[in-house]
Amino acid sequence: MSVALPTSVGEVVDLLAHNPEATLLAGGTDLMVEVNLHGRRPGDVVALHRVSELRTWSLDTSRRTVTIGSGVPYAEMETGELARLVPALAEAARTVGSPQIRAAGTLGGNLGTCSPAGDGLPILSALDALIDVVGPNGQRQVRFADFMVGVKKNSLQPSEFVRSVTLPLVEGWQGYAKVGTRNAMVIATASVCLVRSIDHVAVALGAVGPTIIRATEAERWLVANHVMSSPPNVETLSEFGRMVREASRPIDDHRSTAAYRRHAVGVLAQRLLTRSYS
Ligand SMILES: Cc1cc2nc3c(=O)[nH]c(=O)nc-3n(C[C@H](O)[C@H](O)[C@H](O)COP(=O)(O)OP(=O)(O)OC[C@H]3O[C@@H](n4cnc5c(N)ncnc54)[C@H](O)[C@@H]3O)c2cc1C
Repeated sequence: MSVALPTSVGEVVDLLAHNPEATLLAGGTDLMVEVNLHGRRPGDVVALHRVSELRTWSLDTSRRTVTIGSGVPYAEMETGELARLVPALAEAARTVGSPQIRAAGTLGGNLGTCSPAGDGLPILSALDALIDVVGPNGQRQVRFADFMVGVKKNSLQPSEFVRSVTLPLVEGWQGYAKVGTRNAMVIATASVCLVRSIDHVAVALGAVGPTIIRATEAERWLVANHVMSSPPNVETLSEFGRMVREASRPIDDHRSTAAYRRHAVGVLAQRLLTRSYS
């Protein structure tokens, strides 16, 4: 196995252009599990940790967006200015693995793996993130909805990689909640990100389908029924939960049953909607 240690995005582009089969290594918290436990044998590895540009984030005050480098670890999203700007991402980051995993793991790796249970992904979905992709043909921005195309499948072309993600700053409330088989160090069996402003709501569901699912009917129903300005009553919450459950497409697997996942995702969405008014 060879390991290349580029220090710039340009070098990464060149390395991947000459060797599209090379495997990217960011924090290694997914990749090394594949290597150590599942027998994956990457031939050539391109390690990203020395590319400082990937490990920074920036705020564009005129466009009101935040751009987060694909190599920024979760630990940097948990607190501080980035957490204030994108609180749902901070909440999600705080639920990832352990402090060691959060010190190493990145959004780029979450997007590279593209598991429906990835904690960063419902946030990117609910906020309609743009994924900044770089490759031999230059740069392009891909809507998150077009980026994640299946279970552990993304729409990156050969030699392309994720440079950063760009998120809008939202005037309003945003939050994230997940359940798993225990209270910490747990992969989600169901998760929800809810974003609410005065005339808009977005509800993204994780671990209950092959991709992150937007509960678009529930979103439209909330807005159309003018329940955005006052806290939801029992009937509204009940109907909202039902519509969210309807939107989910869970399966039975070793972590949970489909029935539990469907129930849980409805409860999580109801709790977030209630919290968004408190
Ligand atoms: C003990 C443990 C607990 C965990 N808990 C959670 C959890 O609670 N929630 C959760 O979501 N995840 C969890 N994970 C999974 C993992 O931490 C996350 O998916 C993390 O975001 C992976 O990031 P990484 O930088 O470590 O990726 P890596 O392992 O370095 O890479 C993962 C994949 O993405 C590719 N890749 C990396 N960077 C890029 C890039 N810039 N562009 C394109 N492809 C790229 C790699 O080639 C590889 O295929 C856990 C893992 C472990 C080992």
